[in-house]
Amino acid sequence: MFQWTVFCINIIIVLLSTDVTKAQDGHWSFDDVENWPRECQTGKFQSPIDIGTGGMFKKYYPRFRSQNFYTYQSATIGNNGHTVNITFSNTITVYGGGLPAPKYQLDNIHFHWRSEHTVNHYRYPLEIHLVLYDAQYPNFQEALANKGVAVLGVLVEECSDYFNTWYNAWDVIKNQMSEIEKVGTITQLNQRILISNFLPYNTRRFVRYSGSLTTPDCNEGIIWTVFTNTICIPSHQLNALKQIRGEDGKKLDSTYRPVQPLNGRIVTLSKNIFNFDAQTNWFKFIF
Ligand SMILES: [Zn+2]
Repeated sequence: MFQWTVFCINIIIVLLSTDVTKAQDGHWSFDDVENWPRECQTGKFQSPIDIGTGGMFKKYYPRFRSQNFYTYQSATIGNNGHTVNITFSNTITVYGGGLPAPKYQLDNIHFHWRSEHTVNHYRYPLEIHLVLYDAQYPNFQEALANKGVAVLGVLVEECSDYFNTWYNAWDVIKNQMSEIEKVGTITQLNQRILISNFLPYNTRRFVRYSGSLTTPDCNEGIIWTVFTNTICIPSHQLNALKQIRGEDGKKLDSTYRPVQPLNGRIVTLSKNIFNFDAQTNWFKFIF
């Protein structure tokens, strides 16, 4: 009897302590945003945000350039308990786009369903994040500690297969989603993929603001680029992504953080490279 009581008390203690510490020990979930730690609660410049398209400040930014975005790359996909994460064996580099450092490296590509950024309060079915870090640092963590992280966000609409009949990265990922259903699983993709499949055709048009990581520890000083042109994913491929399971063994229904207050931050819209000049009735090239 005594042993049984002690056993029960132990169980209760374990249950209570896991509940209290789950946000602090690296275990967190999208169902639990109000218990996320540190800057997630205290930060003033958090992400994501609602992008209101009225009255945005416009600014000219140079074009993005990249290495290995348009060549087939070998990659792994993994289930980290919160999303599907893609990493590449080659070094993938990004320059330009008005980012402060001369050269960035791609750390990973991952997904949020539904979208984290909303446009005039509209939430898209999916958002892709390409996580970049300043190449002067040896890795993502060091760059994060030195405010050297930038994220490219791509908003994704659902579409019919008609628009997506060519062979692409979504197909390759879908074929192997069953291998990463469980938390902590990771698998090498059988076919190489194009990173450009995750980007809109026009990457000159985007919104820029300073924010945070959208998952714990919500570190601030992240430079956000959200492209205004969307891409699309056929429904069956979107559903394939959503099959992964979280730490509790349940399917991850939604993987987005609610929008955060702007708190006076300025959101800029990239200005077109050509501006109409009323005096000459012609388009003026801006450098
Ligand atoms: Zn993300």
